[in-house]
Amino acid sequence: MSERTLAIIKPDAVKKDAIGDIIKRYEGAGLRPVAMRMLRMSKSTAEGFYAVHRARPFFDSLTTFMASGPVVVLVLAGDNAIKRHRELMGATDPAKADPGTLRAVHGTNIEFNAVHGSDSADTARFEIGYFFPEMDVVAR
Ligand code: ADP
Ligand code: MG
Repeated sequence: MSERTLAIIKPDAVKKDAIGDIIKRYEGAGLRPVAMRMLRMSKSTAEGFYAVHRARPFFDSLTTFMASGPVVVLVLAGDNAIKRHRELMGATDPAKADPGTLRAVHGTNIEFNAVHGSDSADTARFEIGYFFPEMDVVAR
């Protein structure tokens, strides 16, 4: 079943010029970009995006990081895209991520871990709507 998921190439990965490599790996895995923007989040935009984590000890640091520089936000489409994208990303902590996953290749530590991906259908719906009005997502 074709699904959509939200991906973010985080400020650390943009800073190290990994945008092209990461998008190449999405495409190589059959996850096709159907919407894409580069933007710099304000702190409050990052706080709204990560609202589910507001009680966590790392919330302030995480949202400061996400607002620290430009990011690339994409909608990826493909069969079973949510789960397959999470597999391509690897574990939250790059040190624990399987070799060859995006976080193993481009992440630095559990916070600066290069990429974001929706973790469920409900989360994907919220996260796609947070950055993209429906008319900005194309059919492919
Ligand atoms: P994931 O991004 O794998 O879904 P979470 O939803 O648990 O992971 O966390 C959201 C983001 O918060 C992570 O991608 C990472 O950037 C950051 N983060 C998670 N856990 C920690 C931690 N223990 N310390 C610092 N930052 C963290
Ligand atoms: Mg998460």
